[in-house]
Amino acid sequence: MSSFARALRPVLRKGQASAISRLATSAAPRRTSMLPTRIATTQASRSFSYTVPRRDDTAEVAHLPITSLNDLETSMQEAVAKFATEIVLPKAREMDEAETMDPEIVERLFEQGLMGIEIPEEFGGSGMNFTAAIIAIEELARVDPSVSVLVDVHNTLVNTLFTRYASPALNKRVLPKLATESVGAFCLSEPVSGSDAFAMATRATKTESGYRISGSKMWITNSMEADIFIVFANLDPSKGYRGITAFLVEKGTPGFSIAKKEKKLGIRASSTCVLNFDDVEIPKDNLIGVEGHGYKYAIGLLNEGRIGIAAQMTGLALGAWENAARYCWNDRKQFGQLVGEFQGMQHQMAQSYVEIAAARALVYNAARKKEAGEDFVRDAAMAKLYASQVAGRVSSLAVEWMGGMGFVREGLAEKFFRDSKIGAIYEGTSNIQLNTIAKLLQKEYTA
Ligand SMILES: Cc1cc2nc3c(=O)[nH]c(=O)nc-3n(C[C@H](O)[C@H](O)[C@H](O)COP(=O)(O)OP(=O)(O)OC[C@H]3O[C@@H](n4cnc5c(N)ncnc54)[C@H](O)[C@@H]3O)c2cc1C
Repeated sequence: MSSFARALRPVLRKGQASAISRLATSAAPRRTSMLPTRIATTQASRSFSYTVPRRDDTAEVAHLPITSLNDLETSMQEAVAKFATEIVLPKAREMDEAETMDPEIVERLFEQGLMGIEIPEEFGGSGMNFTAAIIAIEELARVDPSVSVLVDVHNTLVNTLFTRYASPALNKRVLPKLATESVGAFCLSEPVSGSDAFAMATRATKTESGYRISGSKMWITNSMEADIFIVFANLDPSKGYRGITAFLVEKGTPGFSIAKKEKKLGIRASSTCVLNFDDVEIPKDNLIGVEGHGYKYAIGLLNEGRIGIAAQMTGLALGAWENAARYCWNDRKQFGQLVGEFQGMQHQMAQSYVEIAAARALVYNAARKKEAGEDFVRDAAMAKLYASQVAGRVSSLAVEWMGGMGFVREGLAEKFFRDSKIGAIYEGTSNIQLNTIAKLLQKEYTA
């Protein structure tokens, strides 16, 4: 059993259901009977939702609803929903106002095993799968998208880069820390390079004992909380992006500093900073993977990471919807009836719920395809694009459904609305997702 599950045993034993009603209970049954294989075999040869390569042995594939979860994933979902409601929710508004992440929340995330979801148990992690990480990100975002992105970046970008590419010696040194006590940050973007990430100006040069890094990074999530920074720098600009290399820089290394903490529209409890690297000397052991392979690692990780952001946006949309639905169907009456009983309201609420369910299906489809080793790049881009659009639309409507109560900085409605905007920006803007989708479609449909 994973350490995560071990940590959750007391919670699960008590059998305490989450205080908030979950989409999951209706959309993701613990056990689902197999669907008729006929559904798959009658797919059109160029079906909309299928990416190449297509399988011709579908009769042997077990068909479960795309959002169905296994027992461990269900435990994860229930436990994280409970954690989010009991531990994060009481602090969400306060942290947003203070624009600070409460250190106790970070400590509790480690305690719960949520910072090492895919890290193998031998390194102190929970040894679970990618979908488990997606579930955690979604459930946290349902209550606070700032806490969700902290967990997302740490797990899907930082932990994955180490486990997949770092040397065994470096992993032995770093993974136990990442699983139990040290937050990670992923430093790719710079003042001069955002969407065009590989046009970076940060340079690395070789020294006798290792490397020297000089430059600046911008927009770096988790900067205030992190001890472990993955820094991409160009070791050989003559090779263009093929010189880009990934390095580990630890907090406190001379020459490394946080230059500025950004004040933001949304996800304000999540720290976003400008970082300076003034001739930062690191040992050669801090090289991650192979020199010049940094761009490959970054592309691969961001393709996966997008599924995490899509999960964050789906959770956010559901959180905003539920928050407003509870108010409209229980609390607020006008013209002698609950405002949620007016048909004009009900149609908008139903339409929004359908969109959330559709976003969720895209997210889980992309996650499962990644786990199955299938090509998921277009699916991840579609999930991120659509989920961020749904999050924007639904959280905006949710403010309206609550009238003035949605507009004030008391409940969570206006916060979800502000938080939703980031989904269209980080880990590739919406235009960049559309570029990816269009490029892959054109390739597929070009004779
Ligand atoms: C809160 C926050 C947290 C972040 N966290 C991190 C982090 O942890 N690590 C990290 O490395 N980065 C991080 N980022 C950076 C983020 O990934 C970039 O902001 C994002 O990639 C966009 O880059 P940019 O802001 O420079 O926008 P630009 O690239 O300047 O884009 C401006 C506009 O031009 C459009 N555009 C650009 N190129 C094209 C094109 N080819 N076709 C069509 N339209 C185009 C964009 O869609 C956008 O609308 C974060 C950003 C924010 C705001």
